[in-house]
Amino acid sequence: MAESNPFENLQEQVADAAAFLPDGVGDDVLERLKNPERVLETNLTVDMDDGSIRTFRAYRSQFNGDRGPYKGGIRYHPGVTRDEVKALSGWMVYKCAVVDIPYGGGKGGIVVDPADHSASELERLTRSFAKELRPFIGADKDIPAPDVNTGQREMNWIKDTYEKLENTTEPGVITGKSIENGGSEGRVEATGRSVLFAAREVFDYLDTDLTDATVAVQGYGNAGWIAAKLLDEQGASVVAVSDSSGGIHDPDGLDPVAVKEFKNDAGHVTGYSDAEELSNRDLLTLDVDLLVPAALENAIDEDIARDVQADIIVEAANGPLTPDADDVLQDADVTVVPDILANAGGVTVSYFEWVQNRQRFSWTEDRVNDELERVITDAFDELTHAYETLDLPSLRTAAYVVAIQRVVDAYTGNGNWP
Ligand code: NAD
Repeated sequence: MAESNPFENLQEQVADAAAFLPDGVGDDVLERLKNPERVLETNLTVDMDDGSIRTFRAYRSQFNGDRGPYKGGIRYHPGVTRDEVKALSGWMVYKCAVVDIPYGGGKGGIVVDPADHSASELERLTRSFAKELRPFIGADKDIPAPDVNTGQREMNWIKDTYEKLENTTEPGVITGKSIENGGSEGRVEATGRSVLFAAREVFDYLDTDLTDATVAVQGYGNAGWIAAKLLDEQGASVVAVSDSSGGIHDPDGLDPVAVKEFKNDAGHVTGYSDAEELSNRDLLTLDVDLLVPAALENAIDEDIARDVQADIIVEAANGPLTPDADDVLQDADVTVVPDILANAGGVTVSYFEWVQNRQRFSWTEDRVNDELERVITDAFDELTHAYETLDLPSLRTAAYVVAIQRVVDAYTGNGNWP
């Protein structure tokens, strides 16, 4: 089977949903909604520890700025491509719009496997990218954030490089920083927390009980492990989790914190003593109430989708279902809460971080979590309202209809110039 292209998937999702806008949208505007405004492609030449130099390909896509500054993470992964970055930047536009925070969408990536490099090599690589990005980013222009394989450390380096080159202090140029460097309470847990809120809302909507639910989580990084921990705290039973090493399964329920502690030491979840091992495919097709894909895009294709037994999927990862898989699951009456709502906690608390940076005033963790809960539950209500009143085929279509309408309204209000 040909590898699904995430950018084509994004374009298909936007075109499909745009057809349901109550007042319609012309093909000319649709073209704008489907394509990035600009993409920076650069080759970073970096000193290696052994005295050699190496070149790394890097991208930053600024997809749409009609609703505010471009916003989106920076990913370090050997599989990063121009099309992947374009797709991720587009999903950010619609994610920010569906939760109604005043941002456009962007995304960046470097083609690198961080496991192959020392901390000092990664610092030089990150600062080199920050130097390239400097003319294009800023608290009112484009605000990067962490994504796969990047975190507080890389965000601190980017902020520091930017501030030194600009001879200023501007913490709001980037989010996901450590607390001491202008980060926000609650940011690290924010994505997993919005997955919890989205799961709670959809179980409620479907009149089922999350506290009795069995859960499988694919991907045990930041988004996946926090979601597993919070779902467990809510009373759900997390029976299987996985990472790139494979999966583990205990029908009586795993202890997410103990699994995380094991992974911190061992580097992977496999080998955890109180569970059986299972493949990633078997995890995705396990008979559970809730499946949370929290690894990378295209994790569930049409073939796997046919074997999915979960009743509800809450997408923690960006783009974990191919459009064909989405069709199969829709036919099978599986309820999917789309990524652009379910994992929007990360960007929402990034927004709170940016607001705090601009206010030069820090909020408490309780305030951050309360505001996040309000944003996600309000967005879920608006989405289900659109789903019902416009008689839409899926919650994903509903999310895109709400989001696209907001982008179209902003674009129309701004006017087209020059
Ligand atoms: P991460 O690097 O912390 O974790 C990714 C996890 O996925 C790792 O445990 C890795 O081993 C696992 N993985 C990779 N390939 C796998 C495979 N084939 N099968 C099973 N597991 C696999 O990254 P993250 O920040 O948790 O991001 C995960 C997803 O969530 C990405 O799609 C990202 O774009 C999305 N997301 C993250 C945030 C955030 O704030 N961290 C916000 C929004 C969306």
